[in-house]
Amino acid sequence: MKLIDIIKNDRISLSFEVFPPKTETSFESVKEATEEIAKLRPSFMSVTYGAGGGTSKYTLDIAKNIKELYGVPTLAHLTCVSSTRETVRARIEDIKAAGIENVMALRGDIPAHLIDADRSNWDYKHAIDLIYELKTAYPELCIGGACYPEVHPESANQKDDIKHLKEKVDAGCDFLTTQMFFDNNLLYNFLYKIREAGITVPIVPGIMPITNANQVERSIKLSGSFMPQRFKSLVDKFGSDPDAMKQAGIAYATDQIIDLYANGVSHIHVYSMNKPDVARRIQQNLSDILGK
Ligand code: FAD
Repeated sequence: MKLIDIIKNDRISLSFEVFPPKTETSFESVKEATEEIAKLRPSFMSVTYGAGGGTSKYTLDIAKNIKELYGVPTLAHLTCVSSTRETVRARIEDIKAAGIENVMALRGDIPAHLIDADRSNWDYKHAIDLIYELKTAYPELCIGGACYPEVHPESANQKDDIKHLKEKVDAGCDFLTTQMFFDNNLLYNFLYKIREAGITVPIVPGIMPITNANQVERSIKLSGSFMPQRFKSLVDKFGSDPDAMKQAGIAYATDQIIDLYANGVSHIHVYSMNKPDVARRIQQNLSDILGK
């Protein structure tokens, strides 16, 4: 099933993100965790792509398993920046062979040792290059792209970022999913600006439930997201008590989601990070809203 048919629908819905195993030895435990999440029957599940593509095979294995065993539509992530054209073409053939109909097309982070490298002869410089490739090789595919309510860290300013985002959408993105954010006003402001810039595709807000104090620093470092004082107070108060922190983090994410639904967003993606209990508790908190 193409995700755009779920996302553009006005019906309130929720989806979850999981990540593939890094090694063969952790494959079974990750597979089990993702199956537990699939049993919740989310509207879809996305499976991330290991940075640099080293674990790419597992992305498809996990996505295919969820789809075939539980009938949950899947979105396979794919990055391009560290890859050659040959490798990307082979990945696209694998995606086709696995019967995956939805791909999140990403550039990927530039590996630290290549930040200052001359990029002029790289096969892929930006996500848009991958989108063109996907459109040519697999025209029926439903394509998602990433967007950044707080501006991508490499962009000089939001105007440039939104200009490139518009080009990316025009190249063939059916929808966009946002980077995590902890203050919904940032999203509302971003939505206003991108609509004004002529970007009309559906935007799926990505919500990350922070369930332990260590995750706070990691997540901010990774995403550059702004932490509202309300959230910092919660970490100060409950951060040293793992159960209390988890409960507070799930409640905070639930609050964000309810506010988004109340303000007209119909589909939300939860960065559930292979944690079935977190996914379950969020879904339970929303059971009447979701009609589950
Ligand atoms: P791009 O769209 O290429 O943008 C990157 C930067 O380049 C931006 O500053 C943009 O403004 C600029 N830019 C874009 N086009 C041009 C142009 N034509 N000329 C000049 N500048 C341009 N990483 C993974 O490794 N695996 C994953 O599975 C994964 N999933 C993600 C899912 C989501 C929803 C998000 C938000 C991020 C995800 N990431 C993932 C991280 C992502 O790979 C990084 O944020 C990466 O740095 C940018 O990827 P992008 O596709 O947004 O890049």
